[in-house]
Amino acid sequence: VGKMTSISPPPECLFKPMNFPHKVLMGPGPSNCPPRVLGANALPLLGHMHPEFLLIMDEVKAGIKYIFQTNNEWTVCVSGSGHAAMETACLNLLEPGDTALVGINGFWGERFADMVDRQGIDVKTMYRPMGEVFTFDEIEEALKKHKPTLLFLTHGESSGSTLQPLEGVGTLCHKYNCLLLVDSVAACGGVPMFMDKWEIDALYTGSQKVLSSPPGASPISFSDRAKEKVKKRVTRVRSFNFDMNHLANYWGCDGDVRRYHHTSPISTIYAIREGLARLAEQGLEESWKVHKQCAELLQEGLEKIGLELLVKNKSSRNPCVTAVKVPDGVDWKAVTEYAMKTYRVEISGGLGALVGKVWRIGVMGYNCTPDNVSLVLRALDEGLKTAGYSKL
Ligand code: PMP
Repeated sequence: VGKMTSISPPPECLFKPMNFPHKVLMGPGPSNCPPRVLGANALPLLGHMHPEFLLIMDEVKAGIKYIFQTNNEWTVCVSGSGHAAMETACLNLLEPGDTALVGINGFWGERFADMVDRQGIDVKTMYRPMGEVFTFDEIEEALKKHKPTLLFLTHGESSGSTLQPLEGVGTLCHKYNCLLLVDSVAACGGVPMFMDKWEIDALYTGSQKVLSSPPGASPISFSDRAKEKVKKRVTRVRSFNFDMNHLANYWGCDGDVRRYHHTSPISTIYAIREGLARLAEQGLEESWKVHKQCAELLQEGLEKIGLELLVKNKSSRNPCVTAVKVPDGVDWKAVTEYAMKTYRVEISGGLGALVGKVWRIGVMGYNCTPDNVSLVLRALDEGLKTAGYSKL
């Protein structure tokens, strides 16, 4: 008998149960999942090519078309969180020789510009301070100046809590031979979105915000113009995983027999199917209305406490995520810790340039209720008092 190779022991932590507190997730995402979504997530697996699962994928596709208000053939879910959809858009819509113009009024424009730059593709930027949106005129000026092939805008900026107006921007882009790509991870479902009517060429969102499903499957859709652009590429898409030609086939968008591309996150797809069903049953118009009402309730409540909202212009506020300024001398972290310890409610800090300067409160999907708004306001008010803040 040869000498036994020594083997590392199993980790002791795995012999104990997971720590699982219930929390009310009122940050900019993820939101809590309703029981029907969690139930779907726990269903037995099907094979990723089984007919029953392909049917569920078709239902997801129909749901995405509804929330995007589009008839685009190329409508799928990318496996991965919002970043995977961002990279899918970036990798498919750009190739060497192209120029991307990126609107930066917060963290997400910065991130997209980084993704473009990593591909070695020419990237131009236009800036607005966080908390402000781009005007139609400055977009047109930048299109004239840079002659981009793609314009990136963030619909719901979750870092600066703005909502970028999009109506007319697609038509403007097309006048200048440019495609319009929109990130609506932190807005779609909670605010009006008309992908086809607004001539948006590529649009993506996430599963864990208004859809109130687990992260890991991100809806994305390409207009016929965008699809054409991908089809006419001179170079191959520089990612096998995110190549829309393959994804469109696997999602049954090209009329061909569906081929194995990768193993779908099956349980996550069940869950997003139920998240989409919840939103379909509620109806988009009702969802937009409830998000607006709850956001107004929250914003009035914050001002009553004596706090200042980051976004001055009411019509530029994203109802899904509200950034509120941390008063001078207040320890922002002590307040969020109070909220978590006392009420198990999550309030987030700032992102990017606003770290330490704002709190961010998300009121989305299943969590979008007046009760949850009251809970956050109470937690914040008490937390501020505990931190020694008084509005006088
Ligand atoms: N874009 C926006 C506007 C977001 O708010 C987020 C998530 N906070 C993302 C993209 C990235 O999504 P994920 O964290 O799911 O990768």
